[in-house]
Amino acid sequence: MAKVIAITNQKGGVGKTTTSVNLSAALAKMKKKVLLIDMDPQANATQGIGIDRTSIKNTTYDVLVDDKALEDIIVHSSQRGLDVAPASIDLAGVEIQLSNIKTGKEQRLKHAVSKLKKVYDYILIDCPPSLSLLNTNALSASDSVLIPVQCEYYALEGLTQLLNTILLTQSVFNKNLTIEGVLLTMLDSRTNLGVEVSQEVRKYFKEKVYDTVIPRNIKLSEAPSAGLSIFDYDPSSTGAIAYKKLAKEVVKRNG
Ligand code: ADP
Ligand code: MG
Repeated sequence: MAKVIAITNQKGGVGKTTTSVNLSAALAKMKKKVLLIDMDPQANATQGIGIDRTSIKNTTYDVLVDDKALEDIIVHSSQRGLDVAPASIDLAGVEIQLSNIKTGKEQRLKHAVSKLKKVYDYILIDCPPSLSLLNTNALSASDSVLIPVQCEYYALEGLTQLLNTILLTQSVFNKNLTIEGVLLTMLDSRTNLGVEVSQEVRKYFKEKVYDTVIPRNIKLSEAPSAGLSIFDYDPSSTGAIAYKKLAKEVVKRNG
């Protein structure tokens, strides 16, 4: 049965999509069967992993709004073992499209995902930077959340809000939701700030914080424009090494 992990943080630009894409690719390289679900209207994960726009007929929008089966929207990526449920800008309209539905609109992704849990080892959900219906759907569908935290000032700001959302989702929609892990991202080893922030985050989240820290690495920001994971873009980069290490840690925690 697949482990379903939402990559979430309502802050934008903290590394959610970079982590979704490269952790998915790393797990697939470890011979895991992986599905990456893009729940962000910006569709950065879909594009970043190199899914050709013209090959996409249906997206997660159709799953949420038109009851399309998740398996019918899935496209294969160039990485063996990694499938993608693509997103499109239409997703931005889901909240309005579902506004008349009285019950169950937060559980639509969960129902869609449940049918595929037997097919995959890991299902990763790239979440949008908002506390919206899209996020509630993602959290309701997930077993756990992986929270990327950027190593910068105010790193912890907003996390209280995120934890409240997780608690709320637990109490209303998904009592089994847990914290998979907290990932420090974009560490700049040339400054003391990163070290200070990571100490602060570790004090707060303790053993939930992964040993692996993702360094700031220009290759990680270049790879999406080539439509490649870091492993196909520059396998010897510090970014590739870090995401490979993270994947091992994730698998170990789920051993
Ligand atoms: P989010 O999905 O949380 O908005 P992204 O993963 O899109 O965040 O990252 C925001 C920006 O930072 C993107 O341009 C991305 O390429 C870049 N980026 C992410 N992680 C790193 C990293 N470790 N080193 C350098 N750039 C990064
Ligand atoms: Mg993103």
